[in-house]
Amino acid sequence: MFRQVALRACPTWLENKFTSIYFRAKSMSSNGRSHSQSVTIDHSNMKVQILPALQDNYMYLIIDEETKEAAIVDPVDPEAVATAVEQNNVKLTKVLTTHHHWDHAGGNAKLLKNFSDVIVYGGDERIEAINRKITHNDTFNIGSLAVKCFATPCHTRGHICYYITGTGEHSPSVFTGDTLFAGGCGRFFEGTADQMYRALVEILGSLPEETKVYCGHEYTVNNLKFGLHVEPDNMAIQQKLDWVYIQRANNLPTVPSTIKDEKLTNPFMRVHEPSVMKHTQQDDPVQTMSYLRCEKDSFKA
Ligand SMILES: [Zn+2]
Repeated sequence: MFRQVALRACPTWLENKFTSIYFRAKSMSSNGRSHSQSVTIDHSNMKVQILPALQDNYMYLIIDEETKEAAIVDPVDPEAVATAVEQNNVKLTKVLTTHHHWDHAGGNAKLLKNFSDVIVYGGDERIEAINRKITHNDTFNIGSLAVKCFATPCHTRGHICYYITGTGEHSPSVFTGDTLFAGGCGRFFEGTADQMYRALVEILGSLPEETKVYCGHEYTVNNLKFGLHVEPDNMAIQQKLDWVYIQRANNLPTVPSTIKDEKLTNPFMRVHEPSVMKHTQQDDPVQTMSYLRCEKDSFKA
């Protein structure tokens, strides 16, 4: 009890200090080898360079091909971001922070030392070096690309997902941080199953099915194993897991996913499905969500 109260009373800077030590120690155990190769996805007038960081995080460099303006999502490794900006010969103008956890926001201040004009967006005053607070449905631009912000509180109370559309033919993209993962979702640290239901089913689930999903971590193998535990007869999950094993064997990312894929393979987006409800022995989708999260928290893949 005392420990819980003490942790809750822990100021953000102290919490960040502890988490930075934890994540640095974790990433050192991989001998400095990157968890995935950096890959660039071409969406006609928008390019997304996937940048691996720490043990299993992803940062994303978003480039507007028309203006060569760029934004970075969750730049926890500012040196790698600076290198990518230089290699792509683009002008970095914006930081899109999904939430305040150190492995997402912990590089913001250091990045600003190199790129002093950059606007740091986020939905939580606890985000390092934030200088532009945004809320649900706020919009801004990255060159010719249009960004829309979705507040998705639950993993943290200030979590934001960024939905990006361009002028060309390409499909939209959504950067989901630790709200939606390929095959799973983030832990409910500061919210409820109700809130995650709204985030996953009502907000993200209503985006066009072809929307590319770029999430905050490479957790796909374990997530899909849990998905198969929930729905052993779901062929879409089995097929995706086969593909994911090949990607990982080649040290390649399993992002982006799509909203369509998630609706077929992610149990947390499938809480209305009879097969998922049956597994949880619940008859209400929010209760199903709550049960799944509890079960996943202690699931050993
Ligand atoms: Zn987080």
